[in-house]
Amino acid sequence: MGLNAKGYSERNEKRILDAFNRGLLKEFPNPDRVGCPGSHLLERIASREMPLSEADKWLNHLGSCGPCYSEFLQFRAAHRTRRMQTMVAIAASILLVVGLASWAVVRHQKQQSIVAQTAVLDLRNRSLSRGGESNPVEPPLEVSREVKHLSVYLPLGSAEGPYEMRIATTAGGAVIATTADASLKHGVTSIEVVVDLSSASSGQYVFQFRRPNSEWNSYALLLR
Ligand SMILES: [Zn+2]
Repeated sequence: MGLNAKGYSERNEKRILDAFNRGLLKEFPNPDRVGCPGSHLLERIASREMPLSEADKWLNHLGSCGPCYSEFLQFRAAHRTRRMQTMVAIAASILLVVGLASWAVVRHQKQQSIVAQTAVLDLRNRSLSRGGESNPVEPPLEVSREVKHLSVYLPLGSAEGPYEMRIATTAGGAVIATTADASLKHGVTSIEVVVDLSSASSGQYVFQFRRPNSEWNSYALLLR
């Protein structure tokens, strides 16, 4: 194990500890602390701040001084506690960052899929098309078969209240048929419906809505 430019390795620390242990085992009480290097130096050795070359010249003293040994042990314990706290704090902040990043990714994916599963059928500027036939001049509405939630913006001036709504094949068979209440929000009368189009094949369909017992309004719809 190499010696760091600053501080020293575990093996070197063991050498110092051995010297201290001899000091303790021989029980040098040294109550007057004769020749002691002082707490600051002991702390620098214990926290490995002092190069071994500098610490070396104190080892003979430390090998024969019980008080220095017990002081060193206290400094070393405090240093290890601080180092452990630092490592725990670093580990915790890494976990926090990883956790936040995963949460952001999951949330982003969820939002993406919610966005992908929600579609707006905007009929506000479309001509009212009474009867079973849609207006052939207007381009068809388009909806993905992935869509699970439809917001239908009814033509301007449409009343609130119950509506029937369906998506039918061009032959007239309903793929989706439901009733829902239209409500006025921010000047738009809209119907919110949950749909499942996953079993329908893509192609041309007709989107229809009506007040109960009224005529259907029909719009060409392309399922993608
Ligand atoms: Zn001493």
